[in-house]
Amino acid sequence: MRLSNKVALITGAGSGIGKASALKFAEEGAKVVAMDINAAAVKEVVDRIVSSGGQASPYTGDVGKEADCKAMISFAESQYGALHILFNNAGIMDGDDADAISTDNAVWDRTMNINVKGVFWGCKYGIPALLRAGGGSVINTASFVAVLGAATPQLAYTASKGAVLAMTRELAVIHARQNIRVNALCPGPLRTDLLMDFLNTEAKQQRRLVHVPMGRFGEAEEIANAALFLASDDSSYVTGLDFLVDGGITSAYVTPE
Ligand code: NAD
Repeated sequence: MRLSNKVALITGAGSGIGKASALKFAEEGAKVVAMDINAAAVKEVVDRIVSSGGQASPYTGDVGKEADCKAMISFAESQYGALHILFNNAGIMDGDDADAISTDNAVWDRTMNINVKGVFWGCKYGIPALLRAGGGSVINTASFVAVLGAATPQLAYTASKGAVLAMTRELAVIHARQNIRVNALCPGPLRTDLLMDFLNTEAKQQRRLVHVPMGRFGEAEEIANAALFLASDDSSYVTGLDFLVDGGITSAYVTPE
């Protein structure tokens, strides 16, 4: 097993990438703290892990609140004695997020608070815990939109993911000699609630798929496999990476018919 004796904290573990990663990390031997704002969803994930013989604990909180981010790290350490893997994955895409002219300040602030400050606070309190454990791996979920512009705008979201990518790179350099690796996971368009709620018609989905060489949305499990690589010692010489797992979207100029 690739994560034996490791303790992993995953935010946004009630759905999508976070849920698939919680299940996978536990299967690979990690003790998992599954954190989410949705208490029922995260309880269901933990129950599934425990009923199949794994170890996991739910933690309900909001990554957009500093106190909750601080408390989730203390919870992981008190529950399992240490923290080795911090997966800052929770994020939102607001349905009213559009271009510069029409995006409200409130949408901008809410998106930045959860998507950027949530990652910052995870690192602010999580990195000291990794140092106490002798090192570890931080994975921050950014997105392919951090490196590509789109004509179907979601400006606050795109800017927030650019910030996550830049923050990740700098943290990787700062902590490189402390046995802490910090990488950004940049998923392409996925068939999870987050994107399907945004692309809520067949026409909108097909409009996006035109740009994906593989011609399909990715699955949360495919991103969880990449997260497992970054979490485990298999990626021991990998830090500061923007790890694009995107069906080829960032390589494409024209896609196959
Ligand atoms: P999802 O909506 O399926 O899951 C997100 C989870 O985060 C939910 O369980 C939700 O309850 C939780 N959450 C939301 N706000 C929270 C908060 N303030 N505090 C704690 N938990 C909160 O979405 P997903 O597709 O799995 O997205 C996970 C990450 O991947 C996000 O950061 C998202 O921006 C990113 N991402 C998604 C896609 C995509 O196409 N779905 C592409 C690139 C990046």
